[in-house]
Amino acid sequence: MTEREGREFDAIVVGGGLAGLAATRRLAAHGRRVALVEKRDRLGGSSAMSGGWFALSGTTLQRRAGVEDSDDLFLADMSETGGGYADEALLEALVHRQANAVAAIDRAGAWTDELKVSAGMTVARAHLIRIGDLLAHLENEAVAAGAMILPAHAADGLVTDGSRVVGIRSERGVLVANSGVVLASGGFSRSRELLELFVPDQADAMPYGGVGNTGDGLRMAWMLGAGLADVGHVAGTYGQHAETNDEEHELLTANYLGAILVNLRGERFADESESYKDLGSAVLSQPGRMAFQIFDSVVRARSKPGVPLSDMERLEELGHLVSAPTIPALGRELGIPPERLERTVAQYNGSVSGRHDDPLGRTGLVNGVGALVPVATGPFYAYPAVTAMTSTFGGLSVAVDTSVKRVDGSRIDGLCAAGEVVGGFHGASYMTGTALTKALVFGIEAADAIALG
Ligand SMILES: Cc1cc2nc3c(=O)[nH]c(=O)nc-3n(C[C@H](O)[C@H](O)[C@H](O)COP(=O)(O)OP(=O)(O)OC[C@H]3O[C@@H](n4cnc5c(N)ncnc54)[C@H](O)[C@@H]3O)c2cc1C
Repeated sequence: MTEREGREFDAIVVGGGLAGLAATRRLAAHGRRVALVEKRDRLGGSSAMSGGWFALSGTTLQRRAGVEDSDDLFLADMSETGGGYADEALLEALVHRQANAVAAIDRAGAWTDELKVSAGMTVARAHLIRIGDLLAHLENEAVAAGAMILPAHAADGLVTDGSRVVGIRSERGVLVANSGVVLASGGFSRSRELLELFVPDQADAMPYGGVGNTGDGLRMAWMLGAGLADVGHVAGTYGQHAETNDEEHELLTANYLGAILVNLRGERFADESESYKDLGSAVLSQPGRMAFQIFDSVVRARSKPGVPLSDMERLEELGHLVSAPTIPALGRELGIPPERLERTVAQYNGSVSGRHDDPLGRTGLVNGVGALVPVATGPFYAYPAVTAMTSTFGGLSVAVDTSVKRVDGSRIDGLCAAGEVVGGFHGASYMTGTALTKALVFGIEAADAIALG
């Protein structure tokens, strides 16, 4: 079927990242005529750039590793991380429907053996998935089941018949969706205008994430009276080199392996075990809006080549890791007063050895979990990093079946949304892996809502 012949569909999906591909594949598997429109000339969005960590509970990998997790603990950790602001009904739906995500990863054969504790978790729940394999598999299955994929096709409006959404508009005309439209257009990490509107204190974070992610879906749904959730809590992620390009992210969380964070004055300023989103905000208010991850050879040996967030080898290859035989020499390399850095490290080591409490309240490697180690065994290392706006975890207000809700709570008929365009799942902060899990679980859910609802 050519594009010209096929202007009428059962469903249209806007955006070709994980949420959009999951929705398209599922709609096609339900036997629905579906088209996916993607603004850019290739699919993938932020999903393809991501680290590939998924938050999941009760998995085979966890059982094999002896990790005791449960749906209740997953739920409690997400509520706690969100500071009570997240929508409990959405969190429960995510936990209860994660089996659909597990099945999709199974089908794609995209599991790895990597499992770890990361931001917002009290147990090892971050599963590393080969995200490229998963996206390719979803696309292949969707196309094989008859879905039409239309790259370089930016939606710029929703079409209604007065009471329900019945299609999308673009430069090329209208595509009709008789049963519904799924907005899966990602967040607004590339829109300075929207960042300044919602979170002006974050607008100076390094722009990152899918280049097409300028909040188009948000604006289209606003035009129809959609409500918003969590947008005021959007925050950048700390841990990326200032010279990173779009092809390969350089996020490192050596702090979760035992590093401390110091600013240009050589001072610590935050509990390094907190979520990298909270650290992102803290770093934006430091001099030069940057901080060094400082660690020793013990932490350096914890590097995992090829594993996103823990790969120090790659950063060394890129020339972005600094090293020196002593802490004062490291300070001189970094342009930090050497005696100040030495004092900061000595104070920290004193709290690790139990001589005094840590003034910043750090009690563990990540989220209070894991035994601290002193910064004591040379050579010593520093990774200079900034806050990057990788994802915007606030967005459209939705019901558990992904229907978009108006500001008064009523549903916009014919309009579903999934993935980063949606808010309500994260509240005030963010657990690693919940963005990808939410995109996959609710992309599938949106398809079910349209096909079966
Ligand atoms: C470097 C990096 C690392 C990350 N690591 C992780 C991680 O390990 N774990 C995790 O959970 N999350 C992670 N995230 C966040 C996560 O990747 C995203 O939240 C998630 O992939 C969003 O999926 P999505 O399908 O909603 O959006 P995307 O994957 O961004 O897809 C949206 C698509 O919609 C397209 N689009 C936009 N506007 C239009 C329009 N008008 N018409 C048509 N198409 C449009 C975009 O071009 C894009 O292709 C990371 C993000 C980045 C940038």
